[in-house]
Amino acid sequence: MKKIYLYGNWKMNMNCEETRGFYKDFGGQVAGSSGLLGAMGEALEVAVFPPFTSLAAAEEASKNLDKRTAPFLGAQNVYFEPKGAFTGEVSIPMLKNLGCTHIIVGHSERRTIFGESDDLIARKVKACLDEAIVPVFCYGETLAEREGNKTFDVVSRQLRAALSGRTSEEAKKIVYAYEPVWAIGTGKSATSDEAQEVCAYSKKLIRDLAGSAELPVVVLYGGSVKPDNAKELLSMEAIDGALVGGASLKADSFLRIYRAYAGID
Ligand code: PEP
Repeated sequence: MKKIYLYGNWKMNMNCEETRGFYKDFGGQVAGSSGLLGAMGEALEVAVFPPFTSLAAAEEASKNLDKRTAPFLGAQNVYFEPKGAFTGEVSIPMLKNLGCTHIIVGHSERRTIFGESDDLIARKVKACLDEAIVPVFCYGETLAEREGNKTFDVVSRQLRAALSGRTSEEAKKIVYAYEPVWAIGTGKSATSDEAQEVCAYSKKLIRDLAGSAELPVVVLYGGSVKPDNAKELLSMEAIDGALVGGASLKADSFLRIYRAYAGID
């Protein structure tokens, strides 16, 4: 079985107390399931992305977990400058100082609600790579774009912008998350064939842009992933894992996504 990447985007949910509760449940879930314990690290990579205000609580709570099973810690957004007069923003060094190893960049909610452009997102991707932190680069089409047969044009534009000026060494350090906007938070996932088609296209394009047909590339699917559709989606050849919103807020439903895929207790 392939390695699965299971990343949880908590969005604007989970205060410090709820975060501590999640970690406690998470520890219990992993300890209570030999299948999960065996998979962590080798076959399963987990990361959680709390809001900024809960990162310190998450970092502290993770110290109570067995090192092998503690999820990677990530932030949901960042600014590309290291410090300065940027009121309301947070920098990569600040996030690293809190134990973050990953940062979500270009989530569709940042693009649509907060007006982030391809250009700004590309600068964030570069800044993450320069600071040796993993950018989890999100991209995907809206419903109107899909219905207008623009999916591949949009995905291509977004990926090209993010990878412009990046080397193949850098391109392989990015985790890519294909998230069709119409599937996020709607309960209506893409079908496994739809997700496979775009993820396979993405991998080919990334390798073409990087000039390396063998480049290892990790592409996640995101958009209403739940335990009951996990097996079908995660079994697709071009899908390496899931970026999960709603179902990642409880350790039980979050880890059940992997259990459903792997068929473990
Ligand atoms: C997300 O926020 O990235 C996401 C995929 O959300 P949901 O799983 O709730 O659709």
